[in-house]
Amino acid sequence: MAAVTRSSAPDAGPWQERLIRIDLPEGLHARPAGRFVSLLAAFEATVEVRNHTTGAGPANGRSLTSLATLGVLRGQMVLVRVRGRDGNEALVAIEALAARGFDEGASPPLPPTPALAGLGSPRDAIVGQPAARGSVVAPARRVHRRPTGRTREIGGPGQEAVVLRRAIDAVRDELRRTRDAIASQAGAVHAEILSTQIMILDDDALAGPAFAALGDDGVTAEAAWATATGGVAARYRALPDPYQRARATDIDEIGRLVIARMAGAADPPALWGPGVLIADDLGPAETAALDLNLVRGIATAGGGPTSHTAILASALGIPAVVGLGPGILTIVEGTPVLLDGDAGTLTIDPDPATLAARGPTPSAAPHIRPVEPAAGDSERRLALEVSANISMLIEMRALQASSADAIGLLRTEMLFLDRTTMPTRDEQHAAFAAICDEAEGRRVTIRTLDSGFDKPLAFLPEPVTANPALGVRGLRRTLAEPGLLAAHVGAILRVAAEHPVRIMFPMISTLGEWRRARDVVESEIDALGWSERRPHGLQIGAMIEVPAAAICAELFAPEVDFFSIGTNDLAQYVMAADRTNSATSALADALHPAVLRLIGEVCGAADAHGRWVGVCGEVAGDPLATPVLVGLGVNGLSVAPVLVDDIKRLAERFDVDEARTLAAEAVSLGSADEVRERARTFLKGTH
Ligand code: PEP
Ligand code: MG
Repeated sequence: MAAVTRSSAPDAGPWQERLIRIDLPEGLHARPAGRFVSLLAAFEATVEVRNHTTGAGPANGRSLTSLATLGVLRGQMVLVRVRGRDGNEALVAIEALAARGFDEGASPPLPPTPALAGLGSPRDAIVGQPAARGSVVAPARRVHRRPTGRTREIGGPGQEAVVLRRAIDAVRDELRRTRDAIASQAGAVHAEILSTQIMILDDDALAGPAFAALGDDGVTAEAAWATATGGVAARYRALPDPYQRARATDIDEIGRLVIARMAGAADPPALWGPGVLIADDLGPAETAALDLNLVRGIATAGGGPTSHTAILASALGIPAVVGLGPGILTIVEGTPVLLDGDAGTLTIDPDPATLAARGPTPSAAPHIRPVEPAAGDSERRLALEVSANISMLIEMRALQASSADAIGLLRTEMLFLDRTTMPTRDEQHAAFAAICDEAEGRRVTIRTLDSGFDKPLAFLPEPVTANPALGVRGLRRTLAEPGLLAAHVGAILRVAAEHPVRIMFPMISTLGEWRRARDVVESEIDALGWSERRPHGLQIGAMIEVPAAAICAELFAPEVDFFSIGTNDLAQYVMAADRTNSATSALADALHPAVLRLIGEVCGAADAHGRWVGVCGEVAGDPLATPVLVGLGVNGLSVAPVLVDDIKRLAERFDVDEARTLAAEAVSLGSADEVRERARTFLKGTH
């Protein structure tokens, strides 16, 4: 952010101005704009914002929709003008918010990009855009927005205003209930999507024109609201940036919800049985309120892959494809469909050959155990463990429906994103125990708090530095808080007494850090009086995410029980490419031969000391990476729960010798693209 102080205006409270550069990857879209608006609630000040680069505006700083439709893109400057009693403080707070990147670090991640796209779509499939991963075969279910059959008596302007006000109030109550439910199911980060919907509902940019229109006789509350929301949605649709344009869906939903309420309909869209929900479009609140016992997948005619709907579907483990076109709205209720959230396709009434090629659906999949090496055949058969990465309790449903062998990575920090104070030992124990209880006996690898950079934690604030990715994050951060780390490790150990648990430390750079971390575990074991009888199966391992640790893996191997390679960070540091910056994230590709060579070194060191080594970064869920990683010598892959079955099936298609040959070739290629191409050819030959 660059700030330049400019002139101040005279009388009636002078204006103060700042030019602020917006460095957000998606520009000043609805979520950061919402944080800007929330921030101002504490100040008595008039705030106007202009897109200084394009000249758009001014927008009322207290209106989310006005701010978001300024169309401010990354790198553009906004001119913020403030005056009033708290003007000065408001300006300071706005600058601080911009300096913190509008707190976007704690935002829900976009759904992962499809991994299977490019392997080919089934014939006759309708092609849309992948929005949430996973695939399913199930009956088509049309959305039934329940009609009330009620006709409303139209009143005069005053009465119509009351009708509109009541409907807005009722929708706000409903959105708050959904937000609270999502907060406990999927965490505070995803609940924020619903908070944004509430802010849109309460935005003056909608209510102002709607209530003003009701001053004219004969205008109904429905028409006034539809015109106001339609106008704002049209402003979004006119924006040049596709990501910002996609936010029109959120406005459409607010329009729909209030109008449905005026017609007496209160319920979320209903399905008449389990299946794939087929809809014109679906808003985030509607998605959050869906009955998860019935919805196996989501297919929409409109919408975009970066929408809030897609983010929520991904968090809830529901495969989704968007932008399939209006043709899908004619699909007859109950027709079997194959929805492929990876390829971004919908196949109506798939033929047996298509189904056979795809294999069983996750819900119908048999519980495939890893192939045990048979005597005399140990070299050729795979004993690959395929486990799941878990960040929140709600994902356990998807894990249970899968054939996951274990939880390979529990991202503990994600359980506490809504906390502003350190959770107590008991609270932590309860959160870990809830996950382990649902793991149904599977081993759970619990990673200690990995805070900082892309995962800021309110109760562990990091100092503002120029390079947070290279700062005091991960294990560095927790080692700096000995009391906190001891309580955290103590809570993990308590679950280890009841469940098969491994403890894993993130972002280790040096042997010294590893030893300090391990010593904390040992002293907590002593404190619990367990020195003589450690919990059965307790293991302590190191994540390999920093090139220094990968290069020195041979030194770590004798001391660790296992390695888990965090390729998201390893690739970022090897390639010197920020994983959170859309301009560089593609370069942080774990299939680049430079990263693969390091993975190979770690596997070699682990093998030499008889240590288990897994990969838990996103690349583990990329089918093109499966044979390469197996060939390099990894023993386990930990992936999103919905991908477990697919990766298992894939790993059964080749043997270790073939994979080794492929990996040996891959490390000598010149780019990640070449590795992908080679792996694609390899997989085609394994059908
Ligand atoms: C990784 O870096 O690969 C990893 C698994 O950790 P995270 O993505 O949570 O940083
Ligand atoms: Mg990491």
